[in-house]
Amino acid sequence: MNITEFIHNLPKAEIHVHLEGATEPETVLELAQRHKMLDRLPSTQLEDIRQWFVFRDFPHFLEIYLTIQDLIRTPEDFALLTYKCAEKMAAQNIRYREVTFTPYTHTNYLDKGLGIKDILGGLEAGRVQAREEFGVEIRWVFDIPRNLGFDKAGNYKPECAERTLEYAIEGKEQGVVGFGLGGFEVGAPPEPFAHSFSEARAASLLSVPHAGETEGPASVRGAIEALDADRIGHGVRAIEDSELLLLLKERQIPLEINPTSNICLHVYRSLAEHPFPHLDRMGLFVTVNTDDPPLFNATLNGEYELLANVFGYQVHDLVRIARNAFVAAGVEDEVKQRLLSEFDKQSTELLEQLEKSDQ
Ligand SMILES: [Zn+2]
Repeated sequence: MNITEFIHNLPKAEIHVHLEGATEPETVLELAQRHKMLDRLPSTQLEDIRQWFVFRDFPHFLEIYLTIQDLIRTPEDFALLTYKCAEKMAAQNIRYREVTFTPYTHTNYLDKGLGIKDILGGLEAGRVQAREEFGVEIRWVFDIPRNLGFDKAGNYKPECAERTLEYAIEGKEQGVVGFGLGGFEVGAPPEPFAHSFSEARAASLLSVPHAGETEGPASVRGAIEALDADRIGHGVRAIEDSELLLLLKERQIPLEINPTSNICLHVYRSLAEHPFPHLDRMGLFVTVNTDDPPLFNATLNGEYELLANVFGYQVHDLVRIARNAFVAAGVEDEVKQRLLSEFDKQSTELLEQLEKSDQ
């Protein structure tokens, strides 16, 4: 068994991945055909759409992301996206995914005539099918598109945070476990959202804001102090502030790190500059994730391979990092314990097999 096979066989959890951002070119084409919206795509040929998906720069990334959002029109579409997401999980032996989704964009920002009940119904149908067909578990993080929380003059508008919170609470029965803060970090600091996050935590939802990706340490500090973050989406730029690093270490607040995403979006120029191994060595709680896998030409197994091939991680460390994602998951305790004991059993067996094959 080589390292690629070992990583593939290792049961994995992923806690930072966006539903729209996980949509593959095939599904985009299927949705456009379904709704006779092929004019929104650069071509009707799958191969061309695959080419279109190859990462170029942030505006191009955004163009694809917005097209995907626009092509999702019905509850069945949400079920399809969820099902396809699960199919990719099964193909990579990802046993659990906590998927971030932005309901406000579909219910309020874009006019599709969809209500939250339609969306929750679609997501749930996909999730049930995913469990039955692939045996994988999905939970949701509903996140606020933070840039819509401010007007042009930079004044805070509570509406989108309040709606998103309502939707998240309504969705708890359908697997919503976390409350997030996504969108453009620059010019949209965490502090004004404190009220909604405190209500979310009171409703037993995890506080899981993005912070410290395009903004620096102040954003991470704000996420911890004002939003009581249970985890931080990205958080890598905490590396710029030694006191903040100590705080993250002391409290063992998990960081949802996405190395390839950070390179594509120019948070770091190269993997050699990426702080993942430093944050880990300093004793912070780190996990590895893909963010928007097809848009960054990334896979979760590929990210683990980077840890091995670029950062020199050994198999025991890969197992430790993989286990962290299960520990940091927001899933209910009973399921978490089951996933963790399966992980411990299977990872131990894999390490034994590897040792034997080396002898
Ligand atoms: Zn993200």
